[in-house]
Amino acid sequence: MVNDMKTLTPEWTQEIDRRRESLVTLRRDFHRHPELSFEEQRTAGIIADRLHAAKLDVRTGVGRTGVVGVLRGDRPGRTIAWRADIDALPLIEALDAPFTSGTRGVMHACGHDGHTAVALTLAEILSARRAQMAGTAVFIFQPAEEVFGGAEPMIAAGVLDNPRVEEIYGLHLTTQTAVGKVDVKAGPSMASADFFDVEVKGQGGHGAYPHLSMDPITAAANILLGMQNLVSREISAHAPAVLTVGQFVGGTKHNIIPASAVLRGSLRTFDEKVRAQIKQRLRDYAAHMARAYRTEAALSFQADGCPVVINTDKESAFVHACAAGELGAAALADSPPVMASDDMSLFLRARPGCYFRVGIAPGDDRPHPHHAPEFEMHEGGLPVGLRLGLTVMLNALGA
Ligand SMILES: [Zn+2]
Ligand SMILES: [Zn+2]
Repeated sequence: MVNDMKTLTPEWTQEIDRRRESLVTLRRDFHRHPELSFEEQRTAGIIADRLHAAKLDVRTGVGRTGVVGVLRGDRPGRTIAWRADIDALPLIEALDAPFTSGTRGVMHACGHDGHTAVALTLAEILSARRAQMAGTAVFIFQPAEEVFGGAEPMIAAGVLDNPRVEEIYGLHLTTQTAVGKVDVKAGPSMASADFFDVEVKGQGGHGAYPHLSMDPITAAANILLGMQNLVSREISAHAPAVLTVGQFVGGTKHNIIPASAVLRGSLRTFDEKVRAQIKQRLRDYAAHMARAYRTEAALSFQADGCPVVINTDKESAFVHACAAGELGAAALADSPPVMASDDMSLFLRARPGCYFRVGIAPGDDRPHPHHAPEFEMHEGGLPVGLRLGLTVMLNALGA
């Protein structure tokens, strides 16, 4: 398949050109009306309506607010899935534009509005030329990526089994890459993520008499400082890992020693063995350290967390060939794997495939980081993603 990869014929590129404006309009509409994880009612409604209009078989309420559209081509071929995530984040947008978020405190600050618009347009293009399309395309619109909550229930609902999906693809837009560039990485390409709580229990009392209490604040502070040694002293320098505590909660007043304190943080790695090792050692370390301060610590992890995004070799080489053929070798960026995470990893654990990145850097000197109020995309990256997505799908389906 890699060798006889076909580039888009003029008929297909015309379909993309015809939809350039509507692609941007659609993305701006989602941007104007962002919805938090598992609350994507309006977004899911628009997706379902448009998939219905394009004559796909549509299932709604999959994994709560997810939508699946199945498109059968007129010629025999393979069954390939395209996945897009659809949720927004709890942030107040800094951008002042006509399509700035109309819901204060909610913002598409990760580009999922663009992912949704590209995937919908991709489905509409394939549907418009169904007679030339081989195989079956399954479009998975996943809710709640930002809380790592949507992929698992969709997989449990059988989105990969009915019909039986052979491979899965998708893209993430990134402000770290220039417009016109794409990044296709085989193997581990996005980190695992685990959210944890360390609850330290002591004995509260008067601030004047610490010797009569068991101070959980001092114990938690020492656990916080020491846990970084797990990364620097117990993990190979060749294995990237990050432990971050983002929240330290405890106490009510200057002179009261509280009964408990909580640390909340995240762990990121690129290797399942390293991930398991740090999780186990963090548990032992927190417990022993707490005991040294006459307190007790309990470590808990939220659900299962999110595994490493691992793109399979063959499918990554295939997407790489599609990108080189369709966009030119100069379009291929080669940045290192990112410490961000994505529950696309669960789909990629179930089926071979590739999750690649598409550049949307705005091109000014200001930073526009994902998950920040200043996030902003250059919409010129959207048709690039669409073009590569269409090439990937047509070739994988059996062009
Ligand atoms: Zn995100
Ligand atoms: Zn994202």
